[in-house]
Amino acid sequence: MRMEEDLRLSSILIDWYNINKRDLPWRNTTDPYLIWLSEVILQQTRVDQGYAYFNKFVETYPTVELLANAEEDEVLKLWQGLGYYSRARNLYSTAKFIVNEYNGVFPSEYKDVLNLKGIGEYTAAAIVSFAYNQPYAVVDGNVYRVLSRIFAIDEPIDNGRGKRVFNELAMVLLDKSNAGIHNQAIMEFGSLQCTPVSPNCADCPASTLCLAYAQGEVSRYPVKIGKVKNRNRYFNYFDIRVGDFMYLHKRTDKDIWQGLYELPLVESERSLTNDELCGVKGFRDLFPTGEIRVRHITQMKHVLSHQTIYATFYQVEIPGNLLIDEKYLKIKIEEVDLYPVSRLSHKYLEAL
Ligand code: SF4
Repeated sequence: MRMEEDLRLSSILIDWYNINKRDLPWRNTTDPYLIWLSEVILQQTRVDQGYAYFNKFVETYPTVELLANAEEDEVLKLWQGLGYYSRARNLYSTAKFIVNEYNGVFPSEYKDVLNLKGIGEYTAAAIVSFAYNQPYAVVDGNVYRVLSRIFAIDEPIDNGRGKRVFNELAMVLLDKSNAGIHNQAIMEFGSLQCTPVSPNCADCPASTLCLAYAQGEVSRYPVKIGKVKNRNRYFNYFDIRVGDFMYLHKRTDKDIWQGLYELPLVESERSLTNDELCGVKGFRDLFPTGEIRVRHITQMKHVLSHQTIYATFYQVEIPGNLLIDEKYLKIKIEEVDLYPVSRLSHKYLEAL
């Protein structure tokens, strides 16, 4: 996407948010203390359960000083039932730290917020963007899901490299002058519209930009290492040469290498012998008549992120009067370099 398109996505999400957002109490404030409180409560907690706890905490400790001056037991008691008690202990000790080190004023610099105990990159970005509109993009599970689908990103979200890719993309897409609302919007969009199961693609304002939707592969995203199943595929390529000419085919299906050229291909369920190959339908469609001589040339294994391609290349001699379907492009052999091909095809053509 280019700059204008980045902003277009952001404005689609913000427009959607203004119409569809839930009215949640922590959305009606720019007080960093209350935003922090809500973010800590909502970690590992459903919104409906977090709602009641947030209200209880705000009533009991409306300021960071009041929280810092409480007894730890009191804070833990109020937290009771939410689980993951280290969150409550960090909340309490961080409140004391803010009172002692920052005179009770919540820090506003991203790096200072990130240094607070119990606050990671996501929470720091949420606090400084919601409270101060600072240009830091939040990346939580919702954001991973939305971005991985809209951009059909195959990078797994559960490794270091994937996290960097998504963080960088989220920063590029962030509407820097509306960081707070942009961040709220993309997370809410992931919670309500682009949900993990049964996203509402049929009525989605981002569907025209969404590559996963265009490819019919929404359920494939986001990719997780634990989830990735490798698929073996068997490609039989035919190098058909007639005098100075050869044939290519353009891949147009929503599949790997869409838009690239390759030799005429018959895909099979498994590896085939020459005799088996001559009997399959794809082969008979390609060479409907005549005496075809097929010679096995080479085999190559090509590993992609979720697929392993076992490719077998055959050289084919055809009778001069055999017509090859028009969907195959007849080109001059010396011009083959002009066509974009996959790395696999390139390796084969180069080896020749
Ligand atoms: S079209 Fe579907 S997958 Fe794509 S952004 Fe919209 S809801 Fe999510």
